Amino acid sequence: MANEPKRSRSKPTSKTKPPTPDRWYKDGLRFECTQCGDCCTGAPGYVWVTHRESDAIARFLQMSRDTFRKRYVRKVGRRYSLIERANGDCVFFHDGCTVYPARPKQCRTYPFWPENLSSRSAWEELESECPGARPGKGRVYPLEEIELIRRGGSEASLRDKWDE
Ligand code: SF4
Ligand code: SF4
Repeated sequence: MANEPKRSRSKPTSKTKPPTPDRWYKDGLRFECTQCGDCCTGAPGYVWVTHRESDAIARFLQMSRDTFRKRYVRKVGRRYSLIERANGDCVFFHDGCTVYPARPKQCRTYPFWPENLSSRSAWEELESECPGARPGKGRVYPLEEIELIRRGGSEASLRDKWDE
């Protein structure tokens, strides 16, 4: 080990731009949510929430943390998910998301999830599930914005409002 070259990890400065990743979607992707609700309804699934995210929704609903967790959150292994109705719909879906400004990262970042962005064919597969991602739909999201959303960094103002 003593002979291994030492590597220093210098802190990026404001002058150091991070390298632009060479992604297959480097020219951007079109997307516009049609509000169809398909990603919030149907087959059973999980809407993962951190404590911070569930607190944010509780604040949005002007509900106490404990009441919110008892009523709307279930433990799945070591994680937490919003509950769903017997038909698999998210408990907060009523003709649209009723907690939209405080929705968790999983929802804020859809459909720009790593698995959907992993390849062109993965994105094309998604097109059958998400009408907003079909060719010709919506505006072009540039690479930088996609990367930001993918990391959960979009809509910072909304997040800051409910994620204290
Ligand atoms: S499936 Fe796509 S278009 Fe439909 S609500 Fe979800 S994100 Fe929007
Ligand atoms: S929290 Fe809102 S956006 Fe997320 S699954 Fe439920 S209804 Fe859909």
